Amino acid sequence: MTILKFYLSNGVKMHITKIEEHVHLIDLETAGIKNFIASYVLTGKNVAIVETGPAFSVSSLLSGLKELNIKPEEVAYVAVSHIHLDHGGGAGTLMKYLPKANVIVHRRGAPHLANPKKLWTQAKEVLGSVAEMYGKPEPVPEERIIAATDGMSFNIGSNVELKVVETLGHASHHLSYYETLSEGIFTGDAAGIYLNKFDVVVPTTPPPFRLDIALASLNKLINLKPRHLYYSHFGKADNPIEKLQSYAHQLKLWAKIAKQGIENRETLEAISKRIFEKDEAVQKAAEYIKTHLVLSKTVTNKSVQGFVEFVEKFGSIST
Ligand SMILES: [Zn+2]
Repeated sequence: MTILKFYLSNGVKMHITKIEEHVHLIDLETAGIKNFIASYVLTGKNVAIVETGPAFSVSSLLSGLKELNIKPEEVAYVAVSHIHLDHGGGAGTLMKYLPKANVIVHRRGAPHLANPKKLWTQAKEVLGSVAEMYGKPEPVPEERIIAATDGMSFNIGSNVELKVVETLGHASHHLSYYETLSEGIFTGDAAGIYLNKFDVVVPTTPPPFRLDIALASLNKLINLKPRHLYYSHFGKADNPIEKLQSYAHQLKLWAKIAKQGIENRETLEAISKRIFEKDEAVQKAAEYIKTHLVLSKTVTNKSVQGFVEFVEKFGSIST
């Protein structure tokens, strides 16, 4: 992996990593947080971007494109895994700068990109100050939205191709993208949050999380036999099958602990504490998670809540 450090004229230091011959990762460093939100740039005959990151990070993304010598009119596609602010929140703002690009999004996410009002209201309710940190999403013109379904494919040229893989569970409108040349998968939030510093994955499962559907999506990804995973949070990872399988085990463990907690009438905090005690992956990164500006609010609280609400509503699944 070649790490290129760019010092821009405004003094902002950009981190761009070449992860494949035709794929670069731009660390958006949203709110100064490194190794947290990635945008990927695919170069074939045309250019595709996977994940915009939040609205406030669009300037970082554009700086990255400039450093990669990519002209705005070369970008044909902007593919987002889902509409959560840290993945697709920047789509509307970005479109203003990319005259020829269209946005690829799950068909159920499409109306919310065209009219992000409700998305913004809900994001503020769920994320609070983190939503303000990500920034308010701007609308994407309807005619520039491609409402994608499972199996669609988008040709970038020079054998670079993105195939849409519907991977629901984290959200009811979540897509992953299989890239044919590298045989890698852009996982969005379907395979959890990869903390590369610790080589562990932690769940991202806020309500209304669907465990049963998330597990089916993980199987779908495993069956594609990817050679690499490209996590939006964060970066390229090898041993993909092992990572996907171990994430499925981890989700089942969390469900088991949540179920016991509910039966014992434990509080969310108590359930969260037990998960931290029993999940070795989470344990390894516990201090990092607890002091992380976003993860401290999401993993310990929202992700656990997603399990509690799932178990309360659907019972558990056979594990
Ligand atoms: Zn998400």
